Amino acid sequence: MLATRLRPFTTTIFSEMSELALATGSLNLGQGFPDTDGPAEMIRVATDAIAAGRNQYPPSQGVPELRQAVAAHQASWYGLQFSPEDEVLVTTGATEAIAASLLALCEPGDEVVMFEPSYDSYAACAAMAGATPRLVRLNPPDWSFDPDVLAAAFGPRTRLVLLNSPHNPTGKVFTRTELAQIAELCRVHDVLAVTDEVYEHLVFDGTHVPLATFPGMAERTLSISSGGKTFSFTGWKVGWVTGPAPLVAAVRAAKQFLTYTSGAPFQLAIAHGLEAATDTITAFGAALKAKRDLFCDGLAKLGFTVYRPAATYFATTDIASIAPGLEAYEFCRALPQRCGVVAVPSSVFYGGGASAGSAGTGQTAGQTLVRWAFCKRDEVLEEALGRLASWS
Ligand code: PMP
Ligand code: GLN
Repeated sequence: MLATRLRPFTTTIFSEMSELALATGSLNLGQGFPDTDGPAEMIRVATDAIAAGRNQYPPSQGVPELRQAVAAHQASWYGLQFSPEDEVLVTTGATEAIAASLLALCEPGDEVVMFEPSYDSYAACAAMAGATPRLVRLNPPDWSFDPDVLAAAFGPRTRLVLLNSPHNPTGKVFTRTELAQIAELCRVHDVLAVTDEVYEHLVFDGTHVPLATFPGMAERTLSISSGGKTFSFTGWKVGWVTGPAPLVAAVRAAKQFLTYTSGAPFQLAIAHGLEAATDTITAFGAALKAKRDLFCDGLAKLGFTVYRPAATYFATTDIASIAPGLEAYEFCRALPQRCGVVAVPSSVFYGGGASAGSAGTGQTAGQTLVRWAFCKRDEVLEEALGRLASWS
């Protein structure tokens, strides 16, 4: 029954693997969500808001408290100034922000430059908007890209570049040099940028620099983030977009007919988190660094080739060394039965869906790469490593 443009995008790998984890009673290191909730104070603000009757439709652009908190966050962390009135829009997670941005800004036939591997919703949202992804490969071990391939991906049909830094699934933080190259191409070709910065506060090595801070970029960039990752409330689905008023107005036009508005009590709680002491914002990232090292060291000892992430809560491994001849998807289907652990094949983040016009990429990339979510209690990570020892 599915319309042609959505046929390549049926069940997400996250749903598939989380269902497999439940069915087999496995430890779920597939879908990226923490196994510990965020600050109790934020939970109290959400429940108080429900008890106090903040339960009807909030304004479609978001509650004023959160719009103000987002504007203050962008100013204090990055020196970016936005009016809470018309340059901040609250969305139902970053997922809606991405979808609404592409639907609002792309004409059918437009091209969207994005990096490969890429988060699964990018290609699906491009398809919904009738746009074509132009993929630029990130190459291990440092996930760098060839600047000439990037330049070649821009052309007369390019509408925007969709950049995810810090990057899922690789954990790459784009460097200032790389961001400057992207910014220059945006200026030269006069295209827009949509930046997905949901992991902005989960950085261990390097520094997150928003593309909007580069010369000539503030007026052409929509920056997206979400409270889910920073505060460990992925189920609340509160995201936001900041940018120049005409671009934000365009996204709001699309958002109004997707969800109209987003959950009021959760917006107030996320506003509280953003306004709290810096520790509330940085605490989870600090705790994750030790988890990254624990888990990556453990995987390396087991014989995996490990690409240690600079950010996010995902580690990538090449399984060729421990499972010769096996593809990542087959490995991940077999892993729950054999070891009681679930991971995600990174191969699904390659190819950009059936509509991709690839800039030097093939469907065979990433075939032996597997992604592991390490945002779990230490004892869970240790138990997972113990179970994985039985693979060989
Ligand atoms: N972008 C990236 C890169 C992600 O990893 C995720 C997933 N969590 C999202 C967007 C979606 O964020 P949200 O849960 O706020 O919709
Ligand atoms: N962003 C999460 C991940 O990459 C999953 C979100 C989802 O299930 N759509 O694992």
